[in-house]
Amino acid sequence: MSLNTQEKIRCPKCGTLNDITLWQSLTVSDSQDLKQELLSGKLNVLTCSDCGARALVPTPLLYHDEDKKLMISFMPTETAEEAQKQFASIKESSRQSGELNELCGYNLRYVSDYNSLLEKILIFDSGLNDKTVEVIKLMVLMQEPELAEKRSALFGKKYEDGSVEIMVQNLDDGAVFTSRAPAETYTTIHTELLRSGVKDISFDWEMVDKDYAAKLLGY
Ligand SMILES: [Zn+2]
Repeated sequence: MSLNTQEKIRCPKCGTLNDITLWQSLTVSDSQDLKQELLSGKLNVLTCSDCGARALVPTPLLYHDEDKKLMISFMPTETAEEAQKQFASIKESSRQSGELNELCGYNLRYVSDYNSLLEKILIFDSGLNDKTVEVIKLMVLMQEPELAEKRSALFGKKYEDGSVEIMVQNLDDGAVFTSRAPAETYTTIHTELLRSGVKDISFDWEMVDKDYAAKLLGY
């Protein structure tokens, strides 16, 4: 079930008070239009009625796709330490409520930034697994290890031939280039991960990011 609240929020640029509908939970099966709004980066984003400025409202959102057995808990945080705390508290409250039993066969993800939320939805919608994609992203970055810390990688898209596009951005000058992993590369890595014990379902909430991939690859 999708849930929202009505709030008044001040524009960070001009100070005008705006009415906004903030969504706390989005269930895909009853809210396809909301999902499209989310994917186009408009959900829980304030567009000021006076000056037109746009600002993300830092509000938690639970994304639930019953068909794909995917649940993503997005809780915006300022720092990595704060994200770790939120992650721990989600695991704890999930354990106490016993909800994990009802989420058998699900992929459960915690993310702390909006772009990662959108990226995960696109990855699962493409029929891919984010653990494998994170490993490919890190491998792409590590092709030039001396630059890896100054770049970020993001899932682009899956082509019809099954190849996977990764977008790499230089953090300093913002330049973007793309790298393409053939379908066989994806399949090989995915098979290797499963063989090494990585699961393609979750038994608890998981944080699948660059650090996760680094641990898998032994960096
Ligand atoms: Zn404004």
